[in-house]
Amino acid sequence: MMTVEITCPECGSGINVYPSLDAKVADCDVCQTQVPTKFTADHIESNLCDCPVCERKDFYQQKDFSRKIGVALFVIAACFVPWTYGISLIVLWLVDLFLFRKIPNVAICYKCHTNFRGLANLSAIPPYNHEMNDRIVYSDHDFKGKPLEHH
Ligand SMILES: [Zn+2]
Ligand SMILES: [Zn+2]
Repeated sequence: MMTVEITCPECGSGINVYPSLDAKVADCDVCQTQVPTKFTADHIESNLCDCPVCERKDFYQQKDFSRKIGVALFVIAACFVPWTYGISLIVLWLVDLFLFRKIPNVAICYKCHTNFRGLANLSAIPPYNHEMNDRIVYSDHDFKGKPLEHH
């Protein structure tokens, strides 16, 4: 079953919810903000077509792995390079390979940063597109689920 992690618009905390036709609102445990949600039958069947929070259709998928952890690991490995003659970077690469194979992908809404896990239609979600992200976040552009094509 699909799980939804809404990013609280007020405090940025993750709010974990399961799709439900009865759930009209998700409560943030941290700041008590109530985030309206619109779940449909598609969500119940683990298909992601519309965002239940902002109702956009633009999503990307990436490994469910915190970028901060990745950067921290890289910095640590880089610090050890003079003592390990670069072996630390090879170890990191192996860890990366190992971890990344085990980590499933997560779909994320460009607009409101809601995370979706356990999707049935994950393969239909495109990878992250920097230009789309900029246009959605800074110009409030709505791609309506049609990923940007490169010319
Ligand atoms: Zn909150
Ligand atoms: Zn959204």
